[in-house]
Amino acid sequence: MAIVTTAEPTAEGRRRYALRSPATTEHIGELECATDDDIRDMVARAREAQPQWEALGAHGRAEYLRRALAILVRRQEQFVDVIVGESGKPRPEALMIDVFAAADSLAFLAKHAPRWLASEKVPTHGVLRFTKRVQVHYQPLGVVGVISPWNGPLILSLNPAIQALIAGNTVIIKPSEVTPYSGKLAVDLFTEAGIPQGVIQVAMGDGQTGAALVGGGLDKVHFTGSVATGRRIAQECASQLIPCTLELGGNDAMIVCSDADLDAAAGGAVVGSMFNTGQYCCGTERVYVMDDVVEEFTAKVVDRVRRLRQSTSGVFDVGPMFWDRQLEKVTQQVDSAVSGGATALVGGKRNASLPGLYYEPTVLSGVTHDMEVMRDETFGPVLPIVAVSSVDEAVKLANDTNYGLAGSVWTTDVDAGIGIASRLHTGSVSVNDMALTYGIPEAPFGGRRDSGVGQANGKVGVRGFTHAQPIVIDRFGGKQTASQYPYDKRTERITSALIRLIWGKGLARLGLGSSKG
Ligand code: NAD
Repeated sequence: MAIVTTAEPTAEGRRRYALRSPATTEHIGELECATDDDIRDMVARAREAQPQWEALGAHGRAEYLRRALAILVRRQEQFVDVIVGESGKPRPEALMIDVFAAADSLAFLAKHAPRWLASEKVPTHGVLRFTKRVQVHYQPLGVVGVISPWNGPLILSLNPAIQALIAGNTVIIKPSEVTPYSGKLAVDLFTEAGIPQGVIQVAMGDGQTGAALVGGGLDKVHFTGSVATGRRIAQECASQLIPCTLELGGNDAMIVCSDADLDAAAGGAVVGSMFNTGQYCCGTERVYVMDDVVEEFTAKVVDRVRRLRQSTSGVFDVGPMFWDRQLEKVTQQVDSAVSGGATALVGGKRNASLPGLYYEPTVLSGVTHDMEVMRDETFGPVLPIVAVSSVDEAVKLANDTNYGLAGSVWTTDVDAGIGIASRLHTGSVSVNDMALTYGIPEAPFGGRRDSGVGQANGKVGVRGFTHAQPIVIDRFGGKQTASQYPYDKRTERITSALIRLIWGKGLARLGLGSSKG
């Protein structure tokens, strides 16, 4: 429901929006925003429900993930109907991005997360090992707010929510006002799975609703969206001293080496830039190609892009922009590049043959590094190609950005590719793949610099919804501590001798006080 216009407030004073399809521009629904009082009630319900949810244990909670998975598999077509209705994207994309990834994440976390959340023994070192043992317990934080964007409306609501839930937190999701009912599916799924009341709730609404949720007494915020909003949320969380994870925008580079399989690389560049109409956080935003293969690579890309089909229905490859404001941003960036000397080899304008927010799949050449299309996130079906004379030049240009989300390297020498990947200052990198890290639930995912703070997914992500509480147990029932006072000269001498013995020449030789290994 991507064309969002303000409508008359409800009789109770709730803000209201009229929503129109980005594909056909037809009116498809309305959105009523939760009030501050609604948010307060939700947070209170979530807080009340949390202890019992925690008491179920991770294996008990995993059962709800399995039930949700069964419902998702059974109702996948209905879920796709909602997502396609709001976004206009091709049905296979709704299945791949939102349903497949959600099913995989539910199954994977139900199976593996209980192990990551079990308390564990941590071996103590040196002389401490004779006196203390340590267990680390992973305690839930309490009530978590998940605020999500419109580009992957179900997966970006559901995936962080299930990580927070399995860790024993209760969750309130605030989906984007651009795709509110696709985001709400994450909660519908668990409601149908019979999850106890208050464990997962949805706060429908706009940015103001999101701000009310962030200020509503949460224990953690997981935010996915733009850099500007992320910064505001970080400031608000800092003022409350609550943690937040920020998954923000990107300006991902692809590096194509001279020895790359050019058919694979061209295919990767097209999918990387056109998938989800380019509205993919880890989408390919810039391509740096070695100059000895740039001509052949560009011809292959152009040929593939020319064959992409756009339509409001049926079978097609590239959908509309999901949001009218995003269409304006893409149009402005491409127009500015072209007026600055770039050439649109394909596309370069709105697709006027269709009624909705369609922008033609576009390939640009002749761009310069200072152009907005290269420096800012475009988030549209636009692929700028730049020739470079060396890998060093490509790496330098790729890193010269405020963002640091993901990127890819294409080469037949995989070891060399890994070496180049490790020089990129990004949260993740792929070799011969179009940056699918978010879809790999065991891989920690998160951006660096303006692309975010913290990580989701993998053991690190799940544990990010907990507090790791070490419990220290004295092996002698506390007898040593009890005999510590009174201090005298002997205490000082013994302590000092002990330090010399351990880190001087004595026990270090036995590895009990060594600073190595
Ligand atoms: P946005 O920041 O405009 O909105 C995101 C969400 O925040 C929406 O639900 C919105 O209602 C809410 N919001 C707005 N103002 C708020 C406030 N003051 N307090 C609390 N909530 C507020 O972003 P968007 O346009 O919906 O999303 C697109 C951006 O998301 C792109 O930059 C994209 O790269 C990024 N993104 C990042 C990732 C990632 O994992 N790194 C994934 C998907 C999208």
